[in-house]
Amino acid sequence: MINKIEKLKNDLNNIPNLEVINNYSDVKRLSRDFYNYSPILQKKLDGCIADVVVRPKNIDSLIAVSKICWDLSIPLTIRGGGTGNYGQAVPLCNGVVLQMNYFNKLEKYYPDSGFVKVQSGCLMGDLNQELGKFGRELRLFPSTWKTASIGGFIAGGSGGIGSIKWGFLRDPGNLIGLEAVNVNSNPKLLKLNTEESEPLNHAYGTNGIITSLIISTDVKQDWYSIVIDSEDLQMAINILKLCTSAAIELKLGTILEDEIVDKMPTWFKRKKLCHKLLIQSNLGGLKTIELICRKNNLKIENLGKEKELDHGISDLVWNHTTLQMRAKDKNWTYLQMLLPLNEEFKFVKSLRHKYGKTLLWHFEAVSQQGIPRLAALPLLHFNDEKHLNQIMEDCKSHGAVIFNPHVLTVEGGGLGVTDADQVKAKLNYDPKGLLNPGKLEGWAEKEKFIN
Ligand code: FAD
Repeated sequence: MINKIEKLKNDLNNIPNLEVINNYSDVKRLSRDFYNYSPILQKKLDGCIADVVVRPKNIDSLIAVSKICWDLSIPLTIRGGGTGNYGQAVPLCNGVVLQMNYFNKLEKYYPDSGFVKVQSGCLMGDLNQELGKFGRELRLFPSTWKTASIGGFIAGGSGGIGSIKWGFLRDPGNLIGLEAVNVNSNPKLLKLNTEESEPLNHAYGTNGIITSLIISTDVKQDWYSIVIDSEDLQMAINILKLCTSAAIELKLGTILEDEIVDKMPTWFKRKKLCHKLLIQSNLGGLKTIELICRKNNLKIENLGKEKELDHGISDLVWNHTTLQMRAKDKNWTYLQMLLPLNEEFKFVKSLRHKYGKTLLWHFEAVSQQGIPRLAALPLLHFNDEKHLNQIMEDCKSHGAVIFNPHVLTVEGGGLGVTDADQVKAKLNYDPKGLLNPGKLEGWAEKEKFIN
């Protein structure tokens, strides 16, 4: 008798305009993401592999995949560029991995609002390039913008370069609408307005297959990359805060402490070894930043327009700092947190007192509900899970909000609470719970949300 997976593969092979990948090494590669930044996730996820990977070339073939998965009750995990850090695109229960890379077009630009409608598999580097033709650019992008998709960023990312001004992806105003396919006996393309789109934002593809999105964009600018040297970490924090509270435009504000700088690529650390601030601002902002540095006797270097540099500072910030550290030594891992407002240095001092230089500090300036704040992605050598959890507990007890990058679920990596709207959307659009099973904790208590 033909088993369920053979039937699945036969049925998929009969769908027109669908690329089906069965080759073991490709399926294995396409079942992974960058979860190995976490030794805890690595232990859990290394064996997870899909039965088959598919790449639909149009909506009809996507709908046909959804229908087959429904009929056979096969798990379906969506993949964009596969650059997530928490195993978001890893199929915990095997089944189908659905890659969206043929959905890669900018569909419409709305000149009156600056909104853009784009297909979910479009790479953010390509999208930014296209937006440039309209004098626009992405408000927010992760440091993986060259290889990550816009759908994967909305479904699995949080913020990044641009968060200094535009906050986080789930902040109102960034996602305007989306289209998605559901998984039921009669799957369809759904057109969701802003409010209806919210539960699919940062849901790890657990409650709908996003095919296109309408997002806000910003006016295109030339961003200049600036490096400021500081012998003193407190001074570096104060300067960054002076910049974020000045009346200037900023795209990025990062601080790397000296031990981290020492592990960055040679082109960057070739100069003086000290704490470094990495800032992107426009030409107008540059004047003010120079003045702030002059008043504080700090050395400032303008590297020039980021887009014209052989080595841009975008490759050293956000989780690319971790990437650079891991390029030297794979035992480095990291944490993510929002630091207590106006107590940042006190916080760092307390943690340094207990953990010394085993915890190295990397800060990113962000806007949190309109208020300039400092986030941190500190680096450490992994000991064991207990030690890691103890550090997070200590950070919490000193006032930080933790976004744990060593857990698999939407809730675990966020504020730890169930979002009822995300579960309700899953009940509506994925009633059998086939989309990315195991990633939405709230699904276990779905009965509470049935009206
Ligand atoms: P994937 O990893 O393929 O998918 C992410 C999630 O989205 C998965 O759950 C997947 O199922 C879901 N998904 C993908 N496409 C769809 C769709 N069409 N419909 C529904 N669900 C979908 N993240 C940040 O937020 N900011 C950063 O600055 C940042 N820096 C990083 C640096 C490094 C070195 C690394 C390794 C990762 C970094 N990340 C960062 C994480 C990741 O790169 C981004 O979140 C990225 O945007 C994910 O996009 P992707 O296309 O690779 O998504």
